[in-house]
Amino acid sequence: MTQQVQEQPVRPVHIHRRSDTALVGSNHELAWTLEQIQALLELPFHELMWQAQQVHHAHWPAGEVELATLLSVKTGGCPENCGYCPQSAAFETEVQAEKLMAPAEVHQAALAAREAGATRFCMGAAWRAPKDRDIEKMAELIRTVKGLGMQACATLGMLDAHQAQALKAAGLDYYNHNLDTAPDYYQEVVSTRAYQDRLHTLSAVRQAGISVCCGGIVGMGETPVHRAGLIAQLANLQPSYPESVPINSLVRVPGTPLADSDPIDPFDFVRVIAVCRITMPKARIRLSAGRKQLGDAVQALCFLAGANSIFYGDKLLVTGNPDADADAALLTKLGLVPCKTTTPA
Ligand code: SF4
Repeated sequence: MTQQVQEQPVRPVHIHRRSDTALVGSNHELAWTLEQIQALLELPFHELMWQAQQVHHAHWPAGEVELATLLSVKTGGCPENCGYCPQSAAFETEVQAEKLMAPAEVHQAALAAREAGATRFCMGAAWRAPKDRDIEKMAELIRTVKGLGMQACATLGMLDAHQAQALKAAGLDYYNHNLDTAPDYYQEVVSTRAYQDRLHTLSAVRQAGISVCCGGIVGMGETPVHRAGLIAQLANLQPSYPESVPINSLVRVPGTPLADSDPIDPFDFVRVIAVCRITMPKARIRLSAGRKQLGDAVQALCFLAGANSIFYGDKLLVTGNPDADADAALLTKLGLVPCKTTTPA
């Protein structure tokens, strides 16, 4: 039984509104300006947490966390050069390139995830942009996951409109395509594509009627203003902000260009979660890569700040994740329960 949510009055954030922020790909009036988001990030910590909790309680059942599982169905050998990613063929890492998994293997993995409590199964493939024949194979994998009664999500790189439509026809619920960081920091992270390419794919996904999963990574050497810039992009996406917002804390993988980045202050990570919650009240805010290094106490603060989804399972594409037993123990310790609710109040 889902808990009844009482509408709570949300204390307004008294920040003067301006509309002169340059946002890539937006001609619309902004829901949130860069200045407003910066001001939120700079609030005293307790005040920010208070505001985030009010927004969270007004829109979501308290104490529920979505469990999603992510499987790399085609690993490594990617022609892109995302500076955080060990799957890029441009960097020497321990990742070995593998071919696309067979439907039977995916079926087995999705079944195991469902038995462990996951309601959403995400499949990642290290492509710059899938070919049409890859889309046909992915459609079969999507049908496999849907056949188990789970939500299906995929992250396959850049898509054209007809490819997004084919994935929708196969039953895809969510497409993940992260903006990674602010537009003005993007070229520090990846040089093989442009920010506008990301927005183009997000638009194709939206137009196909697939829900959008889009977030970013912090701890890549960006400034707080860049973090505000990422959140501004997400919160102002048109026609609406993403349904799912995965926030990653950089996993510094040896061999990648960002391996020596200074780690983000854990309180700054929690601040990002809280501001995502305030600016995107109905989005699932997902703790994604980097949970292992955050530890239990910081994850607990993230849940307080409004995170209500985690990736579950001992591996996240190719980097480590807390094991399922450790996650179950943490949720129990905090009085959190796996969610039954898929949409906000
Ligand atoms: S993040 Fe994705 S697109 Fe970038 S290198 Fe890794 S697999 Fe390729």
